[in-house]
Amino acid sequence: MSKKVYVQNKDGSPLMPCKPAKARHLLRDKKAEVVRREPFTIRLRWNCESNTQEARLGVDMGAKKAGVSAVREDGQVLYQSKVELRTDIRSKMDKRRKYRRARRTRKTRYREPRFDNRRREKRWLPPTLKSKANSTVKVARQVANPLPINEVTVEVAPFNMQKLKNPKIQREEYQNRELKRHTSVRQYVLYRDKHQCINCKESDVPLQVHHIKPRNKGETEKPNNMVSLCVKCHEKLHKGEIELSKKSLKYWTNKEYKYASHINSMKNHIVDELRKLFNNVQITFGNITKTVRKKLGLEKTDVNDAIAIAIAITIASLDFTKNIKKLPHTFIQKCLPTGRYQLHKGKRSEKRVPTKGFNGFNQWDKVKLPSGTVGFVKGKRSSGYFDVSDIYGNSYTHSVKYEKLDLISKAGTTIMEVKGNSSPT
Ligand SMILES: [Zn+2]
Ligand SMILES: [Zn+2]
Repeated sequence: MSKKVYVQNKDGSPLMPCKPAKARHLLRDKKAEVVRREPFTIRLRWNCESNTQEARLGVDMGAKKAGVSAVREDGQVLYQSKVELRTDIRSKMDKRRKYRRARRTRKTRYREPRFDNRRREKRWLPPTLKSKANSTVKVARQVANPLPINEVTVEVAPFNMQKLKNPKIQREEYQNRELKRHTSVRQYVLYRDKHQCINCKESDVPLQVHHIKPRNKGETEKPNNMVSLCVKCHEKLHKGEIELSKKSLKYWTNKEYKYASHINSMKNHIVDELRKLFNNVQITFGNITKTVRKKLGLEKTDVNDAIAIAIAITIASLDFTKNIKKLPHTFIQKCLPTGRYQLHKGKRSEKRVPTKGFNGFNQWDKVKLPSGTVGFVKGKRSSGYFDVSDIYGNSYTHSVKYEKLDLISKAGTTIMEVKGNSSPT
């Protein structure tokens, strides 16, 4: 599959992406101009009356990484990115607390104790999670900039607990053949038991789900009537060779998976924020993502999960299995703090390096080395020699004079690198 150049209409509204060759022609004939380098986006200079096909956006949310994808009706992936979320919030908050505490014990004027300023706002989130949630919403919004998005799907939890506990809903779902496997209680039971046999604790063997009360005696399709057993133990149990103690059964079946409530509130926050931006926001669950991803024949990666999420809701009605076309390149994005204020590290006699704009360069600006390699400004020295690295901070060079660098794009609160294929033009 070829590369894509994102296209905006004259009024800035998104159109379908085009091939790099066509974009080159448009730019050469001055029929379009470049509006963004990453992802490479051009804007037409005339109003193109087009009937744009729309794409579905999938958002996968992790603790350290997020995945975002956009997939068109015909299975063509239009955008796939992996996002490195910030993990420095906690240490930065600790540092700030330390500074503030030190400041208070210094000799200063008397200050009346304040006691009523610790109220938390209504929908408060811990700072670490707030950062992750906001970053995720931001990168999702960035996709809607160059692409027409009509539906957004977010994975909110590994399983839909309400559905699992209510056999009535399950039965309704079972009527829909396509969804049958998705909401399977079986998957949940195996997940709850950590994919281990509860008798011999073996995990690298084929597992079966045993019904404690036999299946033909009424409502037995509830998770707390099932446990995971390996084939050997299961056979032995039915032959009466082994017995599972009531105590252990109780332990396993009551072990309801509790999804950490703060993670839950973060995902709710993401869904709420996305609903403000998009008209059609759907939620999905981890087990559905997994089934869809396997059906598409994709291995487990952040990007593939995001692709599966994007079409999870519609896969029942559309046959994506034949058509899914991934992009040759993946965008790697990294979230950065809004300000980089540290003056210098080390001894106090060291010369200060200006934090803002040094010879036209800031930290994390995207630059081109004389060799042609594209990297990011990792460190600046007052001597004018810079450290240039890739997006993960692995240095390409430790000393390159700033005059030899070409600025490609200024660093914002997110930076982007293209992996797999060099960027168009
Ligand atoms: Zn076993
Ligand atoms: Zn059994």
